[in-house]
Amino acid sequence: MSRLFKRTKILATIGPATNSAEKISEIIMAGVNGCRLNCSHGSNEERDQQIKWIRDAAAKKGRSVAILQDLQGPKIRLGALKDNRLDLKKGDEVVLESQEFEHDGGLTVPVQYNLAEKCQVGEPLSMFDGRIKAEIIEIVSETAIKVRILNDGYVMSKKGLNLPDTDFGGDILTEKDLSDIEYGAGCDYDYVALSFVQTAEDILKLKQLLLSYGSTAKVIAKIETKKAIASEANLESIVKAADGIMVARGDMAVEAGAEVVPMVQRKLIALCRKHAKLCIVATQMMASMVDEPEPTRAEVSDVATAVVQGADVVMLSDETANGSYPVETVMEMKKVILFTQNHSKLAPIKRNDDDKEVYPAISSAAARLAEEIDADVIICQTASGVTATTMAGERPNLPIVTVTSNVRVANQLALIYANSAFVRPYSEDFGYDLAVELKGSGYLQTREGNKDLTAVIVSGDKNKFGTDTIKVRKI
Ligand code: PGA
Ligand code: MN
Repeated sequence: MSRLFKRTKILATIGPATNSAEKISEIIMAGVNGCRLNCSHGSNEERDQQIKWIRDAAAKKGRSVAILQDLQGPKIRLGALKDNRLDLKKGDEVVLESQEFEHDGGLTVPVQYNLAEKCQVGEPLSMFDGRIKAEIIEIVSETAIKVRILNDGYVMSKKGLNLPDTDFGGDILTEKDLSDIEYGAGCDYDYVALSFVQTAEDILKLKQLLLSYGSTAKVIAKIETKKAIASEANLESIVKAADGIMVARGDMAVEAGAEVVPMVQRKLIALCRKHAKLCIVATQMMASMVDEPEPTRAEVSDVATAVVQGADVVMLSDETANGSYPVETVMEMKKVILFTQNHSKLAPIKRNDDDKEVYPAISSAAARLAEEIDADVIICQTASGVTATTMAGERPNLPIVTVTSNVRVANQLALIYANSAFVRPYSEDFGYDLAVELKGSGYLQTREGNKDLTAVIVSGDKNKFGTDTIKVRKI
């Protein structure tokens, strides 16, 4: 039975290629568990409309789908360029001016952030995903800096800049982020992701802001700066402060070098499992499918690797936002996930000998018990989601069906490894009742020759945090 369920989840970025009720419904039907709405592009009104389309499609499918608001952070972009493009030569000296003006095709170009406030002479700067490398040579005024270009190439309007060595002084939230956070708190978001996180402080600040607006969204730290990955201790403190992380491989490759990314990915997935946090692997997973109907061998291998390493989520960016084959990409990705999970087994989490925490130990015991008695399913009863998340941290080789009376929690669990969450009114035994219902509807099926399903049911005290009870039931 476990073969029917996709345990690694798919997060799809919504963009022009999926900007309609029909397309959103199609990708959700094809296997998307969560949608990312990017604050770098589009308006609040467009996102409001997309949220409604996603909720309608999820209701039609009868399954929870998570919605993630992605905050731009200090992602600095060029302004509009004359004819959309500027050719550059090695040795050119370019002024980046943050005061609004119309570009005339010359070497003074508009930029959407006041770099003069944060940059130092000598720091590196790159543009257009690292295609143009430059060095800061002068702070020209209170609003402009001058850089020397280090290679021939070109830039285009609105392309991003990377400043891997620039210290944003523990203040990475921009004016735009602050207004996106305030507006977003009133929208139906399950997660808020912050770009270019440098330290745990950035995450704690965001959490405080969300709390002050009454938001119940969980917070994802996008790991993509040199500073975030500078030490294992810093990485771990970010993982602990956040509810989850995104291995944001696109910008990380520009900031730290592409060769650094695979080992950081491995380390981050392991850290997230250790602390029972959500882990998303992002960017270029099926990049060639933006233009082609089939993925490359390397892309298939990349998705399979994330599955074998135990990521909760694999993400699609341009593939579903701007590509020609959004639905096909989701289908291909799902195929790779299913085959890989059914031919691999994740090792249990390594715990330190001095780790005597009760709740994770109970989840670990439940996972081992389920394996030993060859159970069909693990059922979690959860109020806050902690029981389900901790259970998922064990990466059991079978489906986790979760029941909660909280809609927000169910939507958030849509991205958690192996979790299928259902919303039902609370009762002492609502896990057992749900299993009976799902067996009746055919969603949970007995194995050939078996009359009953074997379920391991884990639950916590409704008024406390964490898991304290394991039961085995025949259904
Ligand atoms: P982005 O983040 O797509 O918002 O830039 C992901 C990444 O950098 O990989
Ligand atoms: Mn990024």
